[in-house]
Amino acid sequence: MTYDAIIIGAGISGLYQLHRLRGLGMSVRVFESGTGVGGTWYWNRYPGARFDSESYSYGYSFSQELLDEWDWTEHFSPQPKTLEYLNFVADKLDLRRDITFNAKVTAAHWREETRDWRVTLEDGSSHSARFVITAIGPLSAPVWPRIPGIEDFKGFSCHTARFPKEPVDFTGKRVAVIGTGATGVQTIQEVAKTAGTLTVFQRTPNWTAPLHNGPISKQEMAEIRTRYPEILERCRETFACFLHTPDPRGTFEVTPEEREAKWEQLYGSKGFGMWQGNFRDILTDRKANALLSDFVARKIRERVKDPATAEKLIPKNHGFGTRRVPLETKYLEVYNQPNVSLVDIQSTPIEKITPTGLRVGGKDYAFDIIIYATGFDAITGSFDRIDIQGVDGLKLKDKWKGGPKTYLGVQVEGFPNLFMVMGPHTALGNIPRSIEYNVDWVTGVIKHMRAHGLTRAECTPEGVRDWTEHVKALGEGLLSNEIDSWMTGINRNLDGKSERIIARYSGSAPAYRARCDAVAASGYREMRLA
Ligand SMILES: Cc1cc2nc3c(=O)[nH]c(=O)nc-3n(C[C@H](O)[C@H](O)[C@H](O)COP(=O)(O)OP(=O)(O)OC[C@H]3O[C@@H](n4cnc5c(N)ncnc54)[C@H](O)[C@@H]3O)c2cc1C
Repeated sequence: MTYDAIIIGAGISGLYQLHRLRGLGMSVRVFESGTGVGGTWYWNRYPGARFDSESYSYGYSFSQELLDEWDWTEHFSPQPKTLEYLNFVADKLDLRRDITFNAKVTAAHWREETRDWRVTLEDGSSHSARFVITAIGPLSAPVWPRIPGIEDFKGFSCHTARFPKEPVDFTGKRVAVIGTGATGVQTIQEVAKTAGTLTVFQRTPNWTAPLHNGPISKQEMAEIRTRYPEILERCRETFACFLHTPDPRGTFEVTPEEREAKWEQLYGSKGFGMWQGNFRDILTDRKANALLSDFVARKIRERVKDPATAEKLIPKNHGFGTRRVPLETKYLEVYNQPNVSLVDIQSTPIEKITPTGLRVGGKDYAFDIIIYATGFDAITGSFDRIDIQGVDGLKLKDKWKGGPKTYLGVQVEGFPNLFMVMGPHTALGNIPRSIEYNVDWVTGVIKHMRAHGLTRAECTPEGVRDWTEHVKALGEGLLSNEIDSWMTGINRNLDGKSERIIARYSGSAPAYRARCDAVAASGYREMRLA
């Protein structure tokens, strides 16, 4: 079939992109490998999955009707409710008729003669479109650990991003969780409530902060609704589109008492404040970061009764906030339960998975359930899984060897008419806010082209060079770029992911938007439109 545009992915990005391109009167098809809409919130059905963004700061903002008609029920919405919300959006905007589910895109090849893309699906069918928009997610390609024998286990095992639709009953079961990133933390604190025994296998402890979730009553929701303009305005102004924004003061510009009081207040308040609303220099000044890390370490020692376990839970190889900070609800207290144990696999790695459990340091552990909370091939992973070929058969994977090179995080030289929503080098933060901006910007270029009878859009080598250098320069001096994590492209469970790269734009969202707005205001003169 031939379309004006093909969108890959039906998460928050793909759904909104479909709505916007339809608004231009275009014929659009979305291909989605899952069986329903929702992306992240469709796939991540693991126990305890929920937002770390405040729910009312995360939902779509473009439609007053959606804002008026949807009630959030918790400050940090659990996955089932968010999935319900995205289904509500899909129904309200009648999006499903243009989405093909169970449709995994395996290849996209540019054809210069017809100035269009040929998109191939896993079932062998192919489709063409002038424009392809990738909406394939920064965290959507799950990664299993590299442990021999995974397929030998006879009990139930599952990656957190591939949990079954039917609930899994942990009551009385012997459960293992491998991984203690944001997903691992959420899973562990939930599974510990019912499991017979829970054994956590931890390679790298992560700094965490309390989430302080709570229900939203009807009355409170009505009040939040009246504040939507103010909430969304705040998200527009802040560094990373969260409700939280850094304190303009430096850590050492206040007295020790003021500093302690500020940290107590942040530790005791909702959401990402401890990470995103802290003193301005905690992620750049080593001494400030060390002091903050000491504060959080103290909290861990206070909350975890066994001193040896507390020490195991305190990160030693990175400072607070230099990796993605998982938010938790009584996570640390889980380790005070008699049925929970923590195994350090940094010093003694897992040797293998056996038919009955795990072998670590020559010792066999028996389990009924193994949960792999081992995360994703982040940011570029979902691109690597599609054979994307541009002008003269140039492969995107080759173009991005050594790290992605992009123009504003939306285009790549040599790949005309291919636009990325939430691609590498774009502003992330509280992601839907950035998604809406990205989608609107891409829609603006396409609208402009259609209005002027143009059929080919490509960025220039200079544009890519300048943006990529700018993104690299922004990362200089950031403590997070000196640390191995998915944010620096490191994944020890994957080949070719052992060198740090800059895949993430670390400037402010307002600065990103100002740069992109200027390009649009100049009639996209920086791009080659023909
Ligand atoms: C557990 C978890 C919690 C999170 N919490 C937050 C939070 O609190 N705040 C926040 O801002 N962000 C959070 N995120 C990030 C989250 O990914 C984004 O907020 C947002 O959902 C991204 O939407 P998206 O549409 O860009 O991508 P996704 O939601 O990842 O959707 C991408 C879609 O593309 C599909 N796809 C990929 N490749 C192909 C292919 N080859 N063919 C067909 N379909 C394909 C996938 O199946 C998927 O449905 C979280 C992520 C995870 C995993």
